[in-house]
Amino acid sequence: MSEITLHIGIDNHDTPQGGCTTHFSILLIRKLLQKGVEFIDYPNLIRLNPNIPWKTRGNGAVVLRFRVIEKQLEDLLELIRNESEAYTQISRKTKYRQPGIAVFVGNNIPNEYRWLYKKALTDVVTLDIALKIAEKTQTIILSNKQNRGLIGALSAIGGLIDYQEDYTFELLAYRIIENMGKRERLVDELSVKRVELKYKGYLFSNYDFENDRMVITPHGPDPVLLGLRGDKPDILVKAFGEIKVFEPIDFWCVFRTNQATDAHLIKRNISTLRPYQTGLIEGEVLSKPKPEPGGHIRIYIKDSTGVIPVYFYEPTKKLREIALKLIPGDYVRIGGSVRPPSSTHPKISFNAEKLEVIKLNRYIEHNPKCPQCGKTMKSAGKDKGYKCPRCGYYDPNARKILVRIERSLKEGIYTPPISSMHHLTKPLSRYGRENNGKPFILINEWCSFKLTGE
Ligand code: ATP
Repeated sequence: MSEITLHIGIDNHDTPQGGCTTHFSILLIRKLLQKGVEFIDYPNLIRLNPNIPWKTRGNGAVVLRFRVIEKQLEDLLELIRNESEAYTQISRKTKYRQPGIAVFVGNNIPNEYRWLYKKALTDVVTLDIALKIAEKTQTIILSNKQNRGLIGALSAIGGLIDYQEDYTFELLAYRIIENMGKRERLVDELSVKRVELKYKGYLFSNYDFENDRMVITPHGPDPVLLGLRGDKPDILVKAFGEIKVFEPIDFWCVFRTNQATDAHLIKRNISTLRPYQTGLIEGEVLSKPKPEPGGHIRIYIKDSTGVIPVYFYEPTKKLREIALKLIPGDYVRIGGSVRPPSSTHPKISFNAEKLEVIKLNRYIEHNPKCPQCGKTMKSAGKDKGYKCPRCGYYDPNARKILVRIERSLKEGIYTPPISSMHHLTKPLSRYGRENNGKPFILINEWCSFKLTGE
């Protein structure tokens, strides 16, 4: 019997009653497993452009990739459509919720999807473009074609499809229905700290040691109890078993994801930056850092194509402290996103989320001292040398002198504290540990349904 491969892209399945796209996806996985499908990958949790104004939280979409007997296709499409409708029905009246769900059938994902994914990760995509690609690739749309959620659902299909891109894992555990809506999650902080230390090098961004608090529990009314991040799925499952949880867990699942990889930080020239894009700019610091109301820091950066104001906002905490130590002439690389013009900032600016100090300027220029009286001389005009304001001494050949200065800043990469990092930002602990080019192993027990044989 011939088999086919399905790739289901899902987005915008959050509901005001506390549902979310990953929660729906796992419920769907349960139904699919009952139908005997064979997963070829972990469910993919694909984060898209974190700078998109329409996002509810972290702009995440999900893709399920599995094989099934060809003659089951119609049956499965019906099941997926019904499940999606039932889950999102409750929020139909809310105009902002526009669920998207689409199915691409085939072993090889067309290049158009790779392009769409990169675009949605780093820029703004219109529904029109996403639908054109769906049509060209004969993708089956199961939701309303006008729904904005289709942008995320279709774009995610092209993410993480070969091992050349870096990837990580997240184990998400969910609350029982009775506890949804309660803000406090009953998870023991100390046990989280312990596992983060015990599995150092395999887990990351679960405990914020700088601020001494765990960062695995969300605070909203969504169904997620906790999310444990790491580089190896088997270690995630083991570590999860060692975390003390004092409320019932409905189910859990390991996702493969582009989180913590910097996938959105593609190199860009300053002159090409457009509103809402993400990217990495590189250039010279032009101005002294200027503190602004609200605790933000502004500097100007120049590359060979242009100049842009870069803001280090208050929530970036220590990154802002580092930015304050920059001086003109420093050479830096900055990851972040483009803020559109507004009434307070009439031109585009760049919001920094990561800073690499590539080369520190260790010299500053001073006016020469007067050889007669020792006073600092003043310029006599462009290329006209220097004159002493006290004794009147004039030297037409005098030039500025370079003075070496001590810097308290070091060359290197700087990030905000993990509690204020975007999902996509690569934390320092992952540098040198990337999974690029490494195939993953699909462990047997990647979700709790598989364990119980439900
Ligand atoms: P949840 O976790 O509940 O899914 P979220 O933060 O992921 O919340 P969504 O509710 O999915 O946010 O909303 C994001 C919306 O933005 C979706 O409709 C998605 O299709 C759309 N979107 C995502 N990326 C882009 C992009 N690059 N350009 C245009 N629209 C996008």
